[in-house]
Order: sequence, then structure tokens, then C-alpha cells
Amino acid sequence: MKSINEIQPSRRAFLGLTLGGLATAAAVRPASAQRVQTKARIVIIGAGAAGTSLANRLVGRLDGAEITILDPSTEHLYQPGLSLVAAGLKPASYTQSNTADWLSKGITLIPEAAAAIDPVAKTVSTSGAQTFAYDFLVVAPGLVLDHDAIEGFSLDLVGTNGIGALYPGAQYAAKTWEAASKFTEDGGVGIFTRPATEMKCAGAPLKHAFLIEDIATRTAGAGKHEMHYASNNNSLFGLPIVSEKVRMLFEDRGITPQYSHVLKAIEPGRKIATFATPEGDTEMGYDYLHVISPQRAPDVVRQSGLSWADKWTDQGWVEVDQQTLRHLRYPEVFALGDVAGVPKGKTAASVKWQVPVVEDHLIAAIEGREGNAVYDGYTSCPLMTRVGRAMLVEFDYHNNLTPSFPGIIAPLEELWISWLMEEVALKATYNAMLRGKA
Ligand SMILES: Cc1cc2nc3c(=O)[nH]c(=O)nc-3n(C[C@H](O)[C@H](O)[C@H](O)COP(=O)(O)OP(=O)(O)OC[C@H]3O[C@@H](n4cnc5c(N)ncnc54)[C@H](O)[C@@H]3O)c2cc1C
Repeated sequence: MKSINEIQPSRRAFLGLTLGGLATAAAVRPASAQRVQTKARIVIIGAGAAGTSLANRLVGRLDGAEITILDPSTEHLYQPGLSLVAAGLKPASYTQSNTADWLSKGITLIPEAAAAIDPVAKTVSTSGAQTFAYDFLVVAPGLVLDHDAIEGFSLDLVGTNGIGALYPGAQYAAKTWEAASKFTEDGGVGIFTRPATEMKCAGAPLKHAFLIEDIATRTAGAGKHEMHYASNNNSLFGLPIVSEKVRMLFEDRGITPQYSHVLKAIEPGRKIATFATPEGDTEMGYDYLHVISPQRAPDVVRQSGLSWADKWTDQGWVEVDQQTLRHLRYPEVFALGDVAGVPKGKTAASVKWQVPVVEDHLIAAIEGREGNAVYDGYTSCPLMTRVGRAMLVEFDYHNNLTPSFPGIIAPLEELWISWLMEEVALKATYNAMLRGKA
């Protein structure tokens, strides 16, 4: 099989184009791209990062296909920007745009949720009681945050009583900054958490801790804050080398790791958080608590019979081949983005490398041949460690670091250029990806 890197220019070239201006980004389309005549009915669930990008690429490759995309949300959320909003560095509007504005002509947007999937009958029913038959189905509804799993927590608490939660969306990220900024000014005990499930952008909880520590130290001065990072296991990041680097940075910055501490309950009135630990439950008082709820596939997916039966059974990720993202039991079904049941890849950067793989296999299936593109697990996260400094951490399924700029940007160094990747280049790259141009 050919690697996806062989059918597209290197990541380095892509990022170079991005930084050099997106006008030339169309040049990264596969040279072999030709419009294929077909009457195939393609249904895509979710017009987020993955669904939108794929739909826009397919419409450029196929002639005569019926491409239907389902999404009840009129707002497209640029989620990597939430970390900047929650640190007071961008307004909420930085992350918000209209879903429909990203979709090219030739794509039919149905503003309804997929409510039921029948992979045997090959139909999807919607919240508006419509039913769509498909020849190919792409499942890309992202994931859901299970707030009820944390006793005492609900979204209306965000921004009050020292509680932050930047994952649920733009307004919550802005409210998170309200609570966090009070902490940076007043001082006290800050606790930063992450869930024990798989999660999107596992760097985001760390980024929030680092940025708030940096701002707190600049605002109130050193010594006024006691900060804890509650990790779900005995490491701080999935890659041992990155975990060790984060541990060293935490040590320098006075952030205490609390290993194997999983948030299970809060008492907002008393400002007490309860953590499950291997030694039993333990309570910690806080002045600021950042909550990230457990993450699971949406119910429509979990009830569809498309999930893994023997892995992630409490989370329901879709059972796909990790190299092709094709369903292992229903070959006309693919999963993309956060919902895909693969060991890595819940980032927008992963989506950028997953989408051309699904495009390749789907078009090959239409043409009655085998596709050859491979997704290698590429995942990336510009890990912001201070305002103005980040580490550009990139890796694959095998935990290999896969730097885009070897010899130029060291992945484990805190650099201004890596900060620019997150603050400036990432959104431009993301937007080009949405348009199907990258
Ligand atoms: C705080 C935070 C920081 C992040 N930082 C980074 C970063 O720095 N770098 C990076 O690469 N990635 C980052 N990510 C991750 C990245 O945003 C996601 O991995 C990416 O958006 C996943 O794309 P997706 O299409 O799978 O899901 P989404 O983009 O979430 O889109 C899913 C879409 O499906 C729709 N939907 C849901 N249910 C249904 C249904 N039943 N029927 C129809 N439609 C449905 C939703 O409305 C949504 O539009 C971050 C995420 C967060 C939350």
C-alpha cells in the first residue's frame, strides 16, 4: 500500500504553503485527481472538521453523485481556538462561523441530526423524521461530553464558583476565562483535570494549565498560586518522552502532578472536588477547577451496531480499520475524526490526514477497485507552554515523533515559531482543510 505521504506532498510542504499564504494551497490536491462519473448516494453525518472537508473534496472529484451532509448545528466551531479564548487571548467569536458557509455547491446540507443508522438496510433517519438511503456512509459526528458522569457538575456552573470548562463551546470557553482570570488575580488553589476516557486533543488540558500558570505568575506574582494537574493515570501525556518533558516543565513551574486522580464529583458551594484514586476517593479544595467531562461517541452511533464490541465498550468508537478508516463489517461505511475507533488521532490535524485516505478508498470503491492510501495515526498538537511559547508535538500510531520541520523546529523545545503555528497558522490551515484545499 502507498502511504498517504506518497500521494500528497509532505506535511512540511503543506505547512510551508500555509505559512507562505493559502492562495497556492489548491496545488496540494493529488495530481491524479479526475472527476469520476457516478450516481452514488453518499451520506455524511456531521459537518464539522472532518465531514465538511470530505464533502468539499468529494464534490470536486465526483460528477453526478448525491452528497448529503446532516448536521443540526448552524454554527461551525473552530475548537482549537477554545484554548486561546479560555486564556483571554481571543474573543469567543474567533471560534465561530456558519456551518453552511463552508459547504460548496453540489452538497445538500440537511439541518437535522442523524437519529438512527441502519447499516443493514443502509439508511439514516433524522431528527426531522426523514430517511436517507445511502450507497456510502461516512460517520463523522465528533464526540459528546458526558457531563452527567461528574456528580454535581452541570454546564450552568461554568464561570461561577471558580469553575471552568473550556471544551463545551465558545460561550463556555469565555466563561472559563472569567473564572480563571479571577484565579490569576486573587491566587489560591487551582486544579486542572482530564477525563479517563479517550479524549480529543489530549494536549488541551495541559495547555490550559500552562497558560493559566503563566498568566497568574505575571499578574499576581510568584507564590500566590498552588496548582495541581490531575492526570487519569501515571503519566502526563500518551508519549513517554513528551510526558517526561511535561513533568520537568511542571516541576520548574510549580505545578504538582496528581497521578491517577479522576474527577468524579464536585460540591460547588464548598469548592470541594472528589477524585477516584487507586487508594479510594480523595477530596481536594479548590479556588479554580478546570473540568473536562468524559468523552464518548454520540448515542446515535453507540446504538447503531457500528461500534467496537470488545474495545472502548463504555465509549462506543466506530469499529474501523486503523489504516483505511473503513468499517470492518460494513465496507460501505467509513468513520472520520473524533468518532473513529483508532488508537490515536482525535485532533483536527489528524483529520487533515484522514480525509484524503477516506476520499481515496471511497472513490476507489465507486470505481470498483481497491484504494491504496494509508493513515499512519498522524496526530499533532502545538502544546502551548506560555503565552508566546509552544512545543510542536507530532507523532504517529507507533509513538514515533514525526516532526514536520526536522532540524528546524525541535518538537520538545518551547519556541515562539511553534506558538505562531497555534496562534496564526493553525486556523488558516484548518480553514483550507475545511474547504477541501489541503
Ligand atoms: C479545547 C479543544 C482544543 C483543541 N485543540 C486542538 C489543536 O490544537 N489542534 C488540533 O489539531 N485539534 C484540536 N482539537 C481537536 C479538534 O477540534 C477535533 O479533533 C476536530 O474538530 C474533530 O473533527 P470532527 O469532524 O470529528 O468533529 P467536530 O469538528 O466536533 O464536528 C462534529 C460535527 O458533527 C455534528 N453532529 C453531532 N451529532 C450529530 C448527529 N447526530 N447528526 C449529525 N451531525 C451531528 C456536530 O454538530 C458537529 O458539527 C481541540 C479540541 C478542543 C475541544
